[in-house]
Amino acid sequence: MARNTLAQIDPAALTHNLNRVRELAPHSRVMAVVKADAYGHRLDLCLPALDQADMLAVATLEEARAIRRLGNGLPVLLLEGVIHSSDLVVATDLDLELTIHHLDQINALEQFGRSPTARLWLKVDTGMHRLGVAAEQAVHAHRRLLALPGVEQVNLVSHFASADEPGSELTARQVERFDRLANELDGEQCLANSAAILADSGWHRDWVRAGIMLYGISPFADRTGEDLDLKPVMTLTSELMAINHVPAGEVIGYGARFRAERDMHIGVAAIGYGDGYPRSVSDGTPVLVNSRVCRLAGRVSMDMITIDLEGCPEARVGDPVTLWGRGLPVETIAARADTIAYELVCRITRRVRYRSINL
Ligand SMILES: *Cc1c(COP(=O)(O)O)cnc(C)c1O
Repeated sequence: MARNTLAQIDPAALTHNLNRVRELAPHSRVMAVVKADAYGHRLDLCLPALDQADMLAVATLEEARAIRRLGNGLPVLLLEGVIHSSDLVVATDLDLELTIHHLDQINALEQFGRSPTARLWLKVDTGMHRLGVAAEQAVHAHRRLLALPGVEQVNLVSHFASADEPGSELTARQVERFDRLANELDGEQCLANSAAILADSGWHRDWVRAGIMLYGISPFADRTGEDLDLKPVMTLTSELMAINHVPAGEVIGYGARFRAERDMHIGVAAIGYGDGYPRSVSDGTPVLVNSRVCRLAGRVSMDMITIDLEGCPEARVGDPVTLWGRGLPVETIAARADTIAYELVCRITRRVRYRSINL
């Protein structure tokens, strides 16, 4: 039998989370962000559960092409527009809506002679200073875009740098700058990512861009998805492939980082950083064995982890191990790995098999 290392994807959880976005932002249309292969959850497994979204958003042309290959006809926004003007032909073929974040992109569209679609999204930099036209350029940029043949609507977009920090002064400043422009310009408004959807209804506007929360994951450091009534879409599982007795005083794993203070039963599970489980987690990181909490003991290897089975003394070889998902928030593991859950779910490698459950 094949190695049983699985990412189980729950479409019903995805539907639940999309409904949560609707509940929180009842007056907004919802853009479901499915970049990076649906945040590592796999586009093909997720799209069927997102057919009630008003629109999809991706980062790259290849991601947009994958959506069309799957036969999905929802409007698709390229969040960064096209990087090379030669791609405008493809964008047109795929019927993609573009974000315009730079005057160079406007020049390219003018040379191209038209826009791929009738609706464009003008991205304004309100203070994050990553992408976006400067506020002073926005009125002029908006006018040039509306003058392009075939363009009927130019919406206004901006992105928050710190929406996950309650009471952030930067966010307040960004909203104020955005509103000043929005008062001057026609077009629908789109500001909120997941953190902003969850944090403040004043930021919802005409469109919200829901990413991480769709997958049941919290964007906030101090709360899990469950705290926010979200359900995890991915559950990463494997199984015990060996159980060994380790006497007190012996060490476990690479670098001998873990020393047994007592006689221990150590379960070896078939998953490691070669599968995307982070090597940076510390000893004591929780792992579920037969749904019971056990603790990591020793460094994560490429193919395996070692687990103190004290929390589950009846464990046997072949028993299921959950690394994150239902019953064990990925946010907890991310904190132990000193990163964010976004990164963990995006980093699952090709060695892991995906399976859709509850369909
Ligand atoms: C990825 C992305 C989002 C989604 O953010 P989440 O925090 O995952 O909700 C929204 N807007 C833009 C521009 C993005 O790149």
